[in-house]
Amino acid sequence: MAQKPLRLLACGDVEGKFDILFNRVRAIQKKSGNFDLLLCVGNFFGSTPDAEWEEYKTGIKKAPIQTYVLGANNQETVKYFQDADGCELAENITYLGRKGIFTGSSGLQIVYLSGTESLNEPVPGYNFSPKDVSSLRTMLCTTSQFKGVDILLTSPWPKYVGNFGNSSGEVDTKKCGSALVSSLAMGLKPRYHFAALEKTYYERLPYRNHVVLQENAQHATRFIALANVGNPEKKKYLYAFSIVPMKLMDAAELVKQPPDVTENPYRKSGQEASIGKQIPAPVEESACQFFFDLNEKQGRKRSSTGRDSKSPHPKQPRKPPQPPGPCWFCLASPEVEKHLVVNIGTHCYLALAKGGLSDDHVLILPIGHYQSVVELSAEVVEEVEKYKATLRRFFKSRGKRCVVFERNYKSHHLQLQVIPVPVSCCATDDIKDAFITQAQEQQIELLEIPEHSDIKQIAQPGAAYFYVELDTGEKLFHRIKKNFPLQFGREVLASEAILNIPGKSDWRQCQISKEDEETLARRFQKDFEPYDFTLELRQENGLNPGGGGCCEPRLLHCTPA
Ligand SMILES: [Zn+2]
Repeated sequence: MAQKPLRLLACGDVEGKFDILFNRVRAIQKKSGNFDLLLCVGNFFGSTPDAEWEEYKTGIKKAPIQTYVLGANNQETVKYFQDADGCELAENITYLGRKGIFTGSSGLQIVYLSGTESLNEPVPGYNFSPKDVSSLRTMLCTTSQFKGVDILLTSPWPKYVGNFGNSSGEVDTKKCGSALVSSLAMGLKPRYHFAALEKTYYERLPYRNHVVLQENAQHATRFIALANVGNPEKKKYLYAFSIVPMKLMDAAELVKQPPDVTENPYRKSGQEASIGKQIPAPVEESACQFFFDLNEKQGRKRSSTGRDSKSPHPKQPRKPPQPPGPCWFCLASPEVEKHLVVNIGTHCYLALAKGGLSDDHVLILPIGHYQSVVELSAEVVEEVEKYKATLRRFFKSRGKRCVVFERNYKSHHLQLQVIPVPVSCCATDDIKDAFITQAQEQQIELLEIPEHSDIKQIAQPGAAYFYVELDTGEKLFHRIKKNFPLQFGREVLASEAILNIPGKSDWRQCQISKEDEETLARRFQKDFEPYDFTLELRQENGLNPGGGGCCEPRLLHCTPA
């Protein structure tokens, strides 16, 4: 399968010169064809208010290409970036967010880190901290399959990037730039790393990510710093390149070393690194410490302030979080429709969906009040996963595969919808295609996220999103910016391509009497019983299975009379 390379543009500080930039992009596209994306690093906005932006914001003018930008680097421009998790700034112009990974439908992985370095917590909205960098590293680099990412976007240059390389001109990379960005680049192994802020263009010779003769060959990294838009010296501010996402590349092709490849600028010689901090620290050593022990350093920092001295995992079970007002889904609340509850675990419970797409459409819900999967504590997540796996096996035995989705938008209590689809209806790929196609029709960007990756790594607490998980573990994710159709997941599943029950796409049209609901719930409970892991739990705890009445949540266990 020959993958067509993506054609991308990267740009340095725009500083509010939107017309100059976009006119240039138009001219380039006219001459050499359309590009897929424009990525902007550095200051997107200028520090002085301008009328130009209003025209883009209000839609009088429009960016000629899908443009992704990093956030503020100073107090004056923080106001333009309202949502720390990223948002649409104008048509075709999207703020990526403070930090994270963006995976395009092509499979291209772009890691972004907004702002400039600050070592003192808490950091203002235009800075990143050691904690931000270590969380990005932990989220991405700790899996054994991690090979690197396609693109890294930062505003500051990485400190020391000039080591072993060609001259960086007037910029002294031993003094300027961010050591945290260096540590990030070293861990992430991006194929391309773009930065700005120094008002100059510098394309470093590609550097190696492996130690020669000690490690297997890995792909090289190209670091490119870009100048500011419309600078009088006509330094390069726009960089065009084409790229095939690494996950689609042949391994041998990916690790081919360019002839001019150099040593890694951030890596000390092997001997020095292994000795680590035992060597008397030269002046720059203190700034380098994050290269080797980012997490350890942080750990020490925390304990010295005493701020996090409380254990994050208390041994005593905590009382589940309480809702601010009445909640239909908190198990202990009087509003919950108890006759629909079909199984109760330690942290979660199962209930039949009201007006479900089928008689066995169930919800996995936390017993306590949590808004989304992102907010769950580890122990609750564990039980959610256990329910998911158990339901998968249960439905598989009945010739069905599970589709799971969550919409964290205009909802207060997490509801994981589990919809069984008869295997005879369609294949998993058909389900995936149906979601992708119907999302496209409604201009919803569904991104495929790496298998086994956790929504927590992709969505930050408070961010609105929708995702669907297929029985293969594949997930499609959409970060909701505005106006997401509330019934989207149902509509796709009800459509001809999957369940072919279009009349049921609205739950309100599927309501049945309470007696019928009770009958369905009893039937589900009986069918599910052989798979019910909570029975063992209760026996372990010395509780009477199904009897209820021992502790508060189980009081609500609705055993059939
Ligand atoms: Zn609740």
